[in-house]
Amino acid sequence: MSLEAVPQEEEITGPVPVVAVVGRPNVGKSTLVNRIIGRRQAVVEDTPGVTRDRVPYDAEWSGRQFTVVDTGGWEPDAKDRAAAIAAQAEIAVATADVVLFVVDSTVGATDVDEAAVRMLRRSAKPVLLVANKADNQSVELESAGLWSLGLGQPYPVSALHGRGSGDLLDAVLEALPAPPPVTEPEERGPRRVALVGRPNVGKSSLLNRLAKEERAVVDAVAGTTVDPVDSLVQIGGETWQLVDTAGLRKRAGRASGTEYYASLRTAGAIDAAEVAVVLLDASEPISEQDQRILGMVTEAGRALVIAFNKWDLVDDDRRYQLEKEIDRELRRIPWALRVNISAKTGRAVDKLAPALRTALESWETRVPTGQLNQWLTALVQATPHPVRGGRAPRVLFATQAGTRPPRFVLFTTGPLDAGYQRFVERKLREEFGFAGSPVEVSVRPRK
Ligand code: GDP
Ligand code: GDP
Repeated sequence: MSLEAVPQEEEITGPVPVVAVVGRPNVGKSTLVNRIIGRRQAVVEDTPGVTRDRVPYDAEWSGRQFTVVDTGGWEPDAKDRAAAIAAQAEIAVATADVVLFVVDSTVGATDVDEAAVRMLRRSAKPVLLVANKADNQSVELESAGLWSLGLGQPYPVSALHGRGSGDLLDAVLEALPAPPPVTEPEERGPRRVALVGRPNVGKSSLLNRLAKEERAVVDAVAGTTVDPVDSLVQIGGETWQLVDTAGLRKRAGRASGTEYYASLRTAGAIDAAEVAVVLLDASEPISEQDQRILGMVTEAGRALVIAFNKWDLVDDDRRYQLEKEIDRELRRIPWALRVNISAKTGRAVDKLAPALRTALESWETRVPTGQLNQWLTALVQATPHPVRGGRAPRVLFATQAGTRPPRFVLFTTGPLDAGYQRFVERKLREEFGFAGSPVEVSVRPRK
């Protein structure tokens, strides 16, 4: 067996890139955003509590996913229009990987457009010039005059009719940071489970109990390649692949291993798995070694089910003690799913399968961007970041950058207090659940 980490097929490895749409009112920004997203998502303008400013939408072109942000617009008759333009451009530049600057080509470049361009050019971000409302060839020819803005080639587009939008999106993809390496979606075989825990918690006993139907299972899935060190077992009417169980079968081999070797082996099994069952001995106090193994699972970002084994030995006194231990020792992972089982008597072993399924479902959850941001907008309005030294960073919007486990990126105007970030994480779980799965939240402050 190789002890090296087995690469996981992560769905997306980096944050989803952001494309911001900037421009004067009425140049067609909303129309363009709708064109880009194919009007697949509800227009959020009418949703109470959600301003049009910085509304992000999920978009996809040629198989590449990105987030498109409608930055709204400055008020046409705002008192300090220059400041409004600057603020919009600043936010766009701060949060975006690519900026689309939209101009009405039937009007041409105005002094307001030129002011906005000056703001945009101060940033190092790529800016694409969209000559919108180029509904026909004669307007398209006129749009060439927009070269004068100094943003390079104008892209003539009719957001309303779709003309030129494909070429524009091709250019957007070119300008985006390199995509994460493409991983072949693997044919979904049985879900991979690591059965881990310190010596003597009952791993072999549980494996033996689960493995009764193993032979039948192996026949049923003939043709699938299963590592010889793994076991296929039936739990709850479903086939599961228990990874690296070879050591659990040969008691002699296990006895010869050092603790260091055992821990490498545990790490290897966790890496190879999608979900880990960490066995704890319910009749004994939760130990440091138990904690280390739980930490390995969360650090590896795997779904987690804690099985309190030897429940047949737990009396009322012990149960009371254990509840206090759980509060104290497992307070950092209150989201872990827990089942109380006995490998010896078979008690509640059938609870494992539903727990595994729930944990995996959480692990693969994707929250739609619109839903995520409606929730987030309400949250940060109700509880803004505390003011520090006269200033408080603002949370602008969020995207889910990946799954397995769910990973979120908060776009902010500055670094967040660790306490506030934890608060957002806690609320995220309250809203969306994720029972049995770690969740990663990172912050991308504007530079
Ligand atoms: P925003 O304020 O920049 O978001 O602009 P809107 O998307 O609300 O568009 C303003 C007006 O321009 C609306 O009446 C749109 O129908 C119109 N419009 C947008 N794109 C085009 C286009 O490509 N061609 C034409 N003829 N009209 C457009
Ligand atoms: P491993 O080292 O984690 O693989 O643990 P084993 O499966 O070898 O079990 C260690 C000891 O605990 C053995 O004596 C088992 O019979 C016992 N054991 C395992 N599961 C249970 C259980 O659910 N209840 C009780 N009372 N004993 C158990």
